[in-house]
Amino acid sequence: MKILAFESSCDETAVGVVEDGRRVLSDIVASQADLHALYGGVVPEIASRKHVEAISALTEQALREAGCSRKDIGAVAVTYAPGLIGAVLVGLSFAKSVAFGLGVPLIPVHHIRGHIAANYLAFPELTPPFLALAISGGNTLIVDVRDYTDMVILGATRDDAAGECFDKAARVLGLPYPGGKPLDDLARQSAGGVYRLPHAQVDGAPLDMSFSGLKTAVVNLAHHAEQVGEELDRAALARDFAQAVSDTLVPRVMEAARQSGRDIICAAGGVAANSVIRADLERACIEAGYRLYLPPAALCGDNSAMIGAQGYYEYLAGHQAGMELNAYANLDIAT
Ligand code: ATP
Ligand code: MG
Ligand code: FE
Repeated sequence: MKILAFESSCDETAVGVVEDGRRVLSDIVASQADLHALYGGVVPEIASRKHVEAISALTEQALREAGCSRKDIGAVAVTYAPGLIGAVLVGLSFAKSVAFGLGVPLIPVHHIRGHIAANYLAFPELTPPFLALAISGGNTLIVDVRDYTDMVILGATRDDAAGECFDKAARVLGLPYPGGKPLDDLARQSAGGVYRLPHAQVDGAPLDMSFSGLKTAVVNLAHHAEQVGEELDRAALARDFAQAVSDTLVPRVMEAARQSGRDIICAAGGVAANSVIRADLERACIEAGYRLYLPPAALCGDNSAMIGAQGYYEYLAGHQAGMELNAYANLDIAT
């Protein structure tokens, strides 16, 4: 079945066609990042408006590139949560009208479930159960993926998401928004080991995480250097910062795998493109004898194909919605 998929939860408008949850026929991603870079972060009102402007033409383009006509579409999948509420609503409203107009099922997709499903596109042999490390701009979760639509959160951040922390650290290092990729590139220029940064633990919840202390430490370091006129080793700070994030994430994923008995691990979300985290995961999984799946960078960030992939499995599970479907800024991945 061919699913027309929509994603508009943040600053990417994405529309694509995915066949049977595994084959990408088209995936058009229009990023607004350059626009929001002027403000140093996503401006929700602008994001919503740009989604409205882009979505019709992107839909035509997605169908054309997939070589499909409207009649070939068997269902419409759409991100309905979590995200910037106004932004999510644009994609949701448009998807509803398309599903209604075509007379096909409307399938609501949780954005982070979509990020995890990007792995189904990159790795045809992958099937649940497995463990997923979902690390993105707004979420940081260790998820036990028991089945395609049956998920349990084993660990989560108590404050900032990993991606938010990368973006903030990048900002104080003078890098453009979104800063994760530029910070990763800068970090490659140093072996690090210069700055001592905090590694927080959550009392009584060994799989949970906290990044706000790390974020504050980097901000304070940069501000202090500026005040006393000290030259900051920016590449070393970027490297030490990425390492601190990785040192928070990777041991917890390994511990979650040990506790749950899962021996397959997948990474998902924009931060999963990070070179330090990928290398550390690879090393740890080889050592522990786990199979590791790391999707290519293009499938880590927001896209529509991942929504089409998860949408297929939600459809098979009988998850459909009517025209009353609402958007949610926050929603548990397990619901
Ligand atoms: P969410 O998925 O939680 O709703 P989002 O959709 O905004 O949030 P994604 O698109 O999955 O998040 O990921 C974007 C985040 O990934 C940004 O914070 C960005 O800086 C970060 N990122 C992208 N590439 C890298 C990289 N190489 N290293 C670290 N972070 C990265
Ligand atoms: Mg984005
Ligand atoms: Fe995302």
